[in-house]
Amino acid sequence: AETVLITQQSHEELRKVLDANKTAAPGQQRLVVVSVSPQSRASLAARFQLTPTDTARKLTAFFKKLGVHYVFDTAFSRNFSLLESQREFVQRFRGQANSTQALPMFTSACPGWICYAEKTHGSFLIPYLSTARSPQQVMGSLVKDFFAQQQHLTPDRIYHVTVMPCYDKKLEASRPDFFSQEHQTRDVDCVVTTGEVFKLLEEEGVSLSQLEPAPLDSLCSSASAQEPTSHRGGGSGGYLEHVFQHAARELFGIHVDEVTYRPLRNKDFQEVTLEKEGRVLLHFATAYGFRNIQNLVQKLKRGRCPYHYVEVMACPAGCLNGGGQLKALGTPSKALLQHVEMLYGMVRTEAPEEVPGVQELYRCWLQGEGSERAGHLLHTSYHAVEKASSGLSIRW
Ligand code: SF4
Repeated sequence: AETVLITQQSHEELRKVLDANKTAAPGQQRLVVVSVSPQSRASLAARFQLTPTDTARKLTAFFKKLGVHYVFDTAFSRNFSLLESQREFVQRFRGQANSTQALPMFTSACPGWICYAEKTHGSFLIPYLSTARSPQQVMGSLVKDFFAQQQHLTPDRIYHVTVMPCYDKKLEASRPDFFSQEHQTRDVDCVVTTGEVFKLLEEEGVSLSQLEPAPLDSLCSSASAQEPTSHRGGGSGGYLEHVFQHAARELFGIHVDEVTYRPLRNKDFQEVTLEKEGRVLLHFATAYGFRNIQNLVQKLKRGRCPYHYVEVMACPAGCLNGGGQLKALGTPSKALLQHVEMLYGMVRTEAPEEVPGVQELYRCWLQGEGSERAGHLLHTSYHAVEKASSGLSIRW
C-alpha cells in the first residue's frame, strides 16, 4: 500500500496534472497550488549554494514556468499549528481539556511518530497526542477551504501539492481524516519530497541558480508573503520553544527570553525547565529518533515520565535530516546537516501572534479563536490500528 501511495503521490503525478491542464478545455483546468516547506528550501539552498530566500524565489519561478498557478510557504500555515498547540497545552495544563486529553502532551506534526504511536501502542498513546494539525495539513485546510472560497472554486478544482522533507508526509496527506467526502478530494493531493523536486529540476534541465527569482504568493491580501519566513526554535518547527514561552507567560506570568536546553542521554534528547524558588513549574523535553522515543514511551508506561510537554520527531536531528532531503555529495553527511541547519536559521523569524493576516483569518475564516470551526479545520483525531489489519509498513 505504501508503494502505491508513493507512486501516486510523486513529481510524475504533478507533471501529469500540469500536462492535462495544457490540453484541457477552457474552464476545465485545475488550479495548481504548491506549498513549500522551510526544511526543503534549506536543503535545496545548500545544494545550489543559494540563500534560502533566493531559493524560495527561484523555486517559485521554476514552478510557475511549469504551469503552477500559486506558490505558498508552509511557514504561514505553521503559525496556526503553533498557536493551536499553545492554546491546547494551556488548556490541558489547567485541566480544561476534555476527558480524552492528557498530560504530558506530545507533538503530532511528525507522521512517522504518529504512525508508530497508533500502530505499536494501540490506544495507549492517543490521549497524549496534540490534536493540532501539522503545518502541511493546516495548509490543506487553508488552500481547500479558505483559498478555494476566495477563488470561487469547489475544493476538487484545486490540485494542492506540498514539498516536504520526508516520505511519511505522503502517508499523512492520505489519512481519511483529511479527505472531504462531500467534494471527494484530499486537503493535500500530492506530496513531493525535496529529492523529487531536485529530480524534476534535473528532468527539466533547469539549474535553480540560473533562474530569475519570482515573489512568493500570499494567501490573503493582508499577509505579506513575497519572501519566506520562519519561526524561532529548531528545524522541526520550533514547537517546544513556542509552547514553553507561551505557557510560562500565560500560566505563571513569567517572560522567557531565551530557552536553554539541557542535553540528557544525547543531543536528540534534551530538556527545558521553568523554575521558581527551587520549584519546577514547567518541564519540557525533545525526543528525536526512535531510540529516544521508545525510551520516552517506556518512561510513560512505568509512570515515570516527568514531562508536561515533549516535542517528538522520528528522525534523529529532526526534520532537516528527513529521509526526503537531498543527500550529501562528497561532504560528510554531518557537515551537510550543519550547513542546512545554518541556512534554515538564516531566514527572518516571526512570532505567530504577530504575523500579518493570521488574526484576520481567525476572525473572518474561522469565526474566532477556539471556535467550533477552528476545531474542525485546525485539529484532527487519531485511531488505534490493529497490527494485523494494517497493510502499511513503517520505516525507521
Ligand atoms: Fe518527517 Fe522525519 Fe520530520 Fe518526522 S522528523 S516529519 S519523519 S522529516
